[in-house]
Amino acid sequence: MSSTDFAPVPILDLSRQYATVGDEIGRAIADVCAGGRFILGREVSDFEAAFTRTTGATEAVGCASGTDALWLAMAALGVGEGAAVVTTPFSFFATVSSILRAGARPVLADIDPISFNISADAVADAVAANPDVRAVIPVHLYGQCADWDALAPLAKKHGLLTIEDAAQAFGASWSGTEAGALGDAGAFSFYPTKNLSAWGDAGLTTFRDAAAGERARALRAHGMRRRYYHDEVGWNSRLDTVQAAVLLVKMKYIAQWNEDRRSVAARYAAMFADTNLVGTVADGGIVLPTADSRGVHVWHQYVIRTPRRDELRAHLASLKIGSEIYYPVPLHMQDALQNLGYRAGQFPESEKAAREVLALPIYPELREGEQIRVVEAIQGFLR
Ligand SMILES: *Cc1c(COP(=O)(O)O)cnc(C)c1O
Repeated sequence: MSSTDFAPVPILDLSRQYATVGDEIGRAIADVCAGGRFILGREVSDFEAAFTRTTGATEAVGCASGTDALWLAMAALGVGEGAAVVTTPFSFFATVSSILRAGARPVLADIDPISFNISADAVADAVAANPDVRAVIPVHLYGQCADWDALAPLAKKHGLLTIEDAAQAFGASWSGTEAGALGDAGAFSFYPTKNLSAWGDAGLTTFRDAAAGERARALRAHGMRRRYYHDEVGWNSRLDTVQAAVLLVKMKYIAQWNEDRRSVAARYAAMFADTNLVGTVADGGIVLPTADSRGVHVWHQYVIRTPRRDELRAHLASLKIGSEIYYPVPLHMQDALQNLGYRAGQFPESEKAAREVLALPIYPELREGEQIRVVEAIQGFLR
């Protein structure tokens, strides 16, 4: 029997989570429908309260998406026209597009090749070269917090606001502080593939300062504090009550799910260690992802570096094994961002990562036998 006879291993299978909590969520949604409070109903404030309790942030303000959560952070903190914001070119597009939407100017700084997160040294260089920098947006990529030991003193020294892009990192922490409570603000996405996910689009912004949280609450509803009296121009970006009901149920299980992801990641590490594949990409080997001991990783993605990445991905696809590239084009090389004035070659670590990274299936319900298939398929291709 050839390995193509096996069942597919998808990159993510949400139906397994649905099998465990689908009925409970269905009942919670039915309650919302029966009550008729579809906009800013009780479940929204309950979810926001659960969020501040869990993360330790002062304020949590639900909104329509992770992209809006980033915008809301900047709008409420007063980061807009005339300000520059430093962030990483190795992220999802929204990290930079939200800066433009807020009216500010994105300044990019390269990543650390081990963690894939923004390099504090590169941030320092960017700040030195751009006196208008007011804020920095580190992304907790793949579920691991950026190096807050290096970033926090730097931000303090230069009087910068810190906004965490925590879209991939609910439940992650650094030195005992949860993602979302590290910075002045934290932006979360509950897009269906994220660790904590809704049944549609949804997002939330945390704040350290209560006044900023209060401003965000007004801004997400057209700058209204009193009905039909508009204090400033905001936007319509609320968290649906139905999505809050979904998220409230999942909040009960997310710690266990993140724990299960850590087990899956540890199992990959042990399986790969038993092969002769682990080494350097230059030598034809793969590089495994690492978890910084100062933080707690929630393994939103399990991302290896590998030579002949695109061929390997095609090989896995031929065996019905899913994989994905986060992200194939660094943001400074995106067509839509050419007017930022960057060139290819300016962020070599991000560009190298974009050529080498491959995300393998990881989710709480992934089975050991499926992981064996993934590892054997990679072994069959590379050696
Ligand atoms: C998913 C994601 C976003 C955007 O979230 P949406 O809910 O899709 O708008 C922003 N930044 C990062 C790093 C993401 O992974």
